[in-house]
Amino acid sequence: MLDRITFDGPVIVGAGLAGLTAALAAAPRKALVLSPTPLATGCSSAWAQGGMAAALSDEDAPALHAADTIAAGAGLCDPAAVELLTTEGPAAVRALAMLGAPFDRQADGGFVLSLEAAHAKARVARVGGDGAGAAIMAAVIAAVRAAPTVEIRENARARRLLQDATGRVVGVLAEIDGALVEIVAPAVILATGGVGGLYAVTTTPAQVRGEGVGLAALAGAEIADPEFVQFHPTAIDIGRDPAPLATEALRGEGAILRNKDGRAFMADYHPAKELAPRDVVARAIHAERAAGRGAFLDATTAVGAHFPHEFPAVFAACMGAGVDPRVQPIPVTPAVHYHMGGAATDLDGRTSLPGLLAAGECASTGVHGANRLASNSLLEAAVFGARAGRAARDLAIGGESPLSAAPTPDLPDAALQALRQAMSRDAGVIRDAEGLARLVAVLDALEAAHGLAPTLVAAQLIARAALARQESRGGHFRADFPAMALPERTFVTLQDQEPGRAVRYAAE
Ligand SMILES: Cc1cc2nc3c(=O)[nH]c(=O)nc-3n(C[C@H](O)[C@H](O)[C@H](O)COP(=O)(O)OP(=O)(O)OC[C@H]3O[C@@H](n4cnc5c(N)ncnc54)[C@H](O)[C@@H]3O)c2cc1C
Repeated sequence: MLDRITFDGPVIVGAGLAGLTAALAAAPRKALVLSPTPLATGCSSAWAQGGMAAALSDEDAPALHAADTIAAGAGLCDPAAVELLTTEGPAAVRALAMLGAPFDRQADGGFVLSLEAAHAKARVARVGGDGAGAAIMAAVIAAVRAAPTVEIRENARARRLLQDATGRVVGVLAEIDGALVEIVAPAVILATGGVGGLYAVTTTPAQVRGEGVGLAALAGAEIADPEFVQFHPTAIDIGRDPAPLATEALRGEGAILRNKDGRAFMADYHPAKELAPRDVVARAIHAERAAGRGAFLDATTAVGAHFPHEFPAVFAACMGAGVDPRVQPIPVTPAVHYHMGGAATDLDGRTSLPGLLAAGECASTGVHGANRLASNSLLEAAVFGARAGRAARDLAIGGESPLSAAPTPDLPDAALQALRQAMSRDAGVIRDAEGLARLVAVLDALEAAHGLAPTLVAAQLIARAALARQESRGGHFRADFPAMALPERTFVTLQDQEPGRAVRYAAE
């Protein structure tokens, strides 16, 4: 007999910026946060370097931020979601500052704002150069720990969503300190982050591996745009897993991409060279490496001696691997960095299943379309995390008793590593039908051997939707269909054998 507890407030699965923001916003209702690791670890939020984008200066406006977001999204952004993100953005950044996030300030108290690629204005609020994520999370964690309404369980991982006979989500089956516990609750908010851990080369923590998307899909929720995965062009290629990041700001400062012969190659691929869109730079680096020429980011002139204080995180990662970026080019590779897809939600985080909400990277609000604009994701986690927390606040325990359910299977490590290799090889920066069909066969074989693990379900959703989308757009590039052709989002449930394209479901 499993332990069963009833919690009178939302259970929040994941303790990144989205989950913790939702927990604070649910007050005065109680919220229970599950985190597989100690707070501030195991989440991408604490690793973010650049900062948060928002129209915070007099020269900027939410409408300008929205226009840049929509341009980056390559035709698939939901304009209503973008408008909400960009109009609520400045207040969300100020609210984090009020909590104690120590954003860099000018002498007059205004935010120091960085200019990042594809933003028309300087609008990225930062902390200490490349330390935004850790500093923002430290402030939010202090607030959560002080909040009488928020309960935190570390060493706690969701293993299945509990549903009643109508399909309503009525809680979560969690593994807490190694024991399975059924937690019955009025709402579950998934905030499990992205899918980096499904790929062999990623910049995200290992715990972030699509489990929320897999759990939602297994419960029957609609998943949107799973094929759209963003690759950061310049992860540092020093054999570390996850790969440390050489922030985009280095190219902003004038660092040059060269191959092993020292040749600056970006002019061969795009007139904007190093400042070309992220997906273009990722494909260029991928092509140079695939041709055996290698790829290196040379910041010796652009940054040089200023490395230790201007880019301390990058400097430390390089030095730890015996590369001195002040005088040596940094070996780089594209790596999975962000997932635009996720559980389809309305503007308050509600998924297609009653009782289930989602926020942050594991949700697909439609804000990012086919490609996320740099530094919009911490903002999305804050804005939509708060909206989901408020939406869950008013829900009462309403469903019937949960049907009994076993935990979802876990992939053994060898199988997970095989999956990661196959995903990086065949659902990577450049895809084609042959590789994706090979990938689906690998995933089918893993499924036959190990059952429907949430990680495997998430990988299947990505692979099958990538195979179905016979065009190239944003983060999805098909060598066999290089042109844009299908300006529609993907909406799919696990029950659909072939991912279909459908009209967005009507929110409750
Ligand atoms: C190196 C790096 C740099 C970045 N820089 C920036 C930047 O400058 N600006 C920007 O806007 N974005 C940046 N991003 C992206 C941004 O950090 C993320 O998109 C954002 O933090 C996601 O927040 P989240 O709360 O949705 O997920 P996360 O912060 O990833 O949190 C997910 C949480 O869910 C937990 N979890 C996962 N599975 C389970 C489960 N089964 N049960 C319980 N818990 C689970 C995880 O352990 C974690 O606690 C960066 C990302 C990386 C990796």
